[in-house]
Amino acid sequence: MKLSKRAESLAPSSTLAITAKAAALKAEGHDVIGLGAGEPDFNTPMHIIEAAYAAMKAGHTKYTASGGLLPLKKKICEKLLNDQKLSYDPSEIIVSTGAKHSLYSLFQAMLDEGDEVIIPTPYWVSYPEQVKLAGGVPVFIEGKEENEFKFTAQQLKSAITEKTRAVIINSPSNPTGSLYTKDELEEIGTVCLAHDLVIVSDEIYEKLVYHGAEHVSIAQISEPLRKQTIIINGLSKSHAMTGWRIGFAAGDKKIIKAMTNLDSHSTSNPTTISQYAAIAAYGGPEEDVEMMRSSFEARLDEVYSKLVSIPGLSCVKPKGAFYLFPNAKAAAEMTGFQNVDDWVAALLDEEKVALVPGSGFGSPDNVRLSYATSLDAILEALGRIERFIKRHQ
Ligand code: PLP
Repeated sequence: MKLSKRAESLAPSSTLAITAKAAALKAEGHDVIGLGAGEPDFNTPMHIIEAAYAAMKAGHTKYTASGGLLPLKKKICEKLLNDQKLSYDPSEIIVSTGAKHSLYSLFQAMLDEGDEVIIPTPYWVSYPEQVKLAGGVPVFIEGKEENEFKFTAQQLKSAITEKTRAVIINSPSNPTGSLYTKDELEEIGTVCLAHDLVIVSDEIYEKLVYHGAEHVSIAQISEPLRKQTIIINGLSKSHAMTGWRIGFAAGDKKIIKAMTNLDSHSTSNPTTISQYAAIAAYGGPEEDVEMMRSSFEARLDEVYSKLVSIPGLSCVKPKGAFYLFPNAKAAAEMTGFQNVDDWVAALLDEEKVALVPGSGFGSPDNVRLSYATSLDAILEALGRIERFIKRHQ
């Protein structure tokens, strides 16, 4: 059957490709260690599960308003006020089927054919594809490794044309774990205001910051920047709720309304039961959130020091999220591989360790490994990587 040009132009997800290959090897009986996971390895906190169960028993198993339940929107407003000191009205909030879907609807609601969106590399795999699906054109600026993979206000300025509509900021970042400081955001914000750029601020890893680092939203810097920003967030990473599919966008009323209209013709509403669970999550105790955060922090330290002791690998120490993004160019060169993609493929074949090649994130010299998996498994995987490098040297 013939595919649409739109479908044909989509790049397959590199994360899913490596996961599928690792799963196939596992099915053949191989002892594969997958470090591709993009989700916490904890279960959802029990009080949230109980709230979902209670909601079902109470009959909350029907459609809701498109764009989400009003009590949930109010909880999200409270969350933004408590955590970011940002004041929003429920009419400035949309609840969607995951942050990914908030982003999808946002680009659909915001972009016309040929509109440009500036995407810093390394980027989360879905940004360019979602922009293209909305008829937009991704324009990349390089977050340089020597600047902790962060782009500068100057780089942003140089990439702006009369077609630029928006810039994406993802802090803490997937895949690098980089975190923008208030000063950096202020400089970037000045450029955005001067050129009337919409700021898409993906804050899905907001709760996962380490060693006293502070997450700052660009919307917190000034009221004009709050108005210029669409915040994207959700429960997947903070509350180990990837499967519940709840995310939200907060920002300009007109955009939020357009996104809600769009969603009314696609998903109708985010799953009702998950919305009730989300009310419990946003209004509830945060001990579990902190327990998960501190356990990722402890893993980061142990895994990082082991990783950088491996010859050929160097790594910027992340400040947030649950990924490491080492540069493996030297490792690939010293082991006789043409490029890091080939090195990653051989590592999976020979040592059964699945890393995600950085090429899928627009950074071909790097690899992404997730430490949202047991410490024993990660340390075993690093041991195998070291053995692989030694064998090929
Ligand atoms: N944004 C980033 C940077 C992510 O890494 C992810 C998930 O991997 C998402 C958004 C989407 O999260 P959700 O599960 O809420 O759709």
